[in-house]
Amino acid sequence: MKRQQCPCCDFYTVDSEDEVIVDICDVCFWQYDLIAHELPDKNIGANHISLNQARENYKLFGVCKQEFRHLVRDPIEEELPENNMG
Ligand SMILES: [Zn+2]
Repeated sequence: MKRQQCPCCDFYTVDSEDEVIVDICDVCFWQYDLIAHELPDKNIGANHISLNQARENYKLFGVCKQEFRHLVRDPIEEELPENNMG
């Protein structure tokens, strides 16, 4: 199964066979938002935080927003980038 990479935490958390991706990443709690992905410096859409800020938070706290810390989990084997090459 082909998976899609989360733009925030870089793990492959989404099944790309879904036609419309409306999903929240289990690893960083970023909500997929194609417009926000195009404008990573803008605070728009459902996340109420810019993608770049979310990435920064993930690096620091392991979650895109600290308030969601209790909702995230570690990535599983099949979500690791090295297992999704090619
Ligand atoms: Zn993520």
